[in-house]
Amino acid sequence: MEVNCEGCAGCCLDWRALLEDDTDARDAVDGHRRREVFEDEPPATPSREPLDDDPTFVPLTRDEVRAFLEAGMGAALTPRFWHARGEREEPHSTDSSSGDAPQAGVEIDGHTVAAVAGRPAFFIGLRKPPKPVAPFGRDEPTWLPTCVFLEPTTLQCRIHEDDLFPDECGAYPEHNLALAQETECERVESAFGGDRLLDADHDDPDGLLLGSQAIGAKLFCHPRPAALEGIVGRAAAGDLTRQDRAEPIAVAAASSPGTLAISDFHYEQAKERMLADADADTEPADEASWVGPAIRDWHERCRAADEAVPSPTVADAVERERGAPETPGWDVE
Ligand code: SF4
Repeated sequence: MEVNCEGCAGCCLDWRALLEDDTDARDAVDGHRRREVFEDEPPATPSREPLDDDPTFVPLTRDEVRAFLEAGMGAALTPRFWHARGEREEPHSTDSSSGDAPQAGVEIDGHTVAAVAGRPAFFIGLRKPPKPVAPFGRDEPTWLPTCVFLEPTTLQCRIHEDDLFPDECGAYPEHNLALAQETECERVESAFGGDRLLDADHDDPDGLLLGSQAIGAKLFCHPRPAALEGIVGRAAAGDLTRQDRAEPIAVAAASSPGTLAISDFHYEQAKERMLADADADTEPADEASWVGPAIRDWHERCRAADEAVPSPTVADAVERERGAPETPGWDVE
């Protein structure tokens, strides 16, 4: 597998808004998706739709969640819940020989969320504050939901060679190819041209973590659905607070791969790290890291912005001067 990422970052941001003012690109993507994904036969089993609206969500493992918390970067994390299939997902087989855990939806805040054994299931991934970016060779920047770790000027990942770099980002788009799914590279090619996916041959990747082996490792299950009341509603509305995020993140950090067990010690420790310096009413300053202040600053700048979108270089003030690592640029071998 070989990819050409320079000037792209299509898998690190939500670029769908660029299609709104580019009819050719929108038609190209719509047509491509219809041809490749949705045409003719709907899938036998409808997929579970996420409550959030992030098309490029990066699921993290339990160990990665813990590592971000230890680095004081809990502010970078957010949960993803899903709608159960249909009105109420019926339990799957409880035949233990199948290895499947029973699954059914759980009603919270007016949403029937996907669950395993009555426990709402969720991922933990990376937040996408609005940043001014100009991907795909565009001349002018646009405010787009962009991974907290993407440097808007170079469109490179600030943690690429860091221990915190998520496995999923290193495996993308290999996982999609292994699952015979369309890649973001192909969607970008369809919409804006260029060659992104240079070689689609791929080795069988490790770490797909499908089925029951994902539980407690990448797919987390909350043991107390009532603790998610209010949180699920705000997740669907895109209004999660730090206190909201702390609950599922603490459960993820306290999970045990391959089981539904939760460690009380790790739950309390993670909650404490998430809420350190927290003010009950406001998003707190996460002074241990540049991440929390930068996310808040991006949101405030986007809200306050008039028609003119600032240059991506404003990231120097928002991120780098707060301690974000620099990226090498594309001229460096
Ligand atoms: S962590 Fe890096 S590679 Fe992964 S989505 Fe964010 S910017 Fe992209």
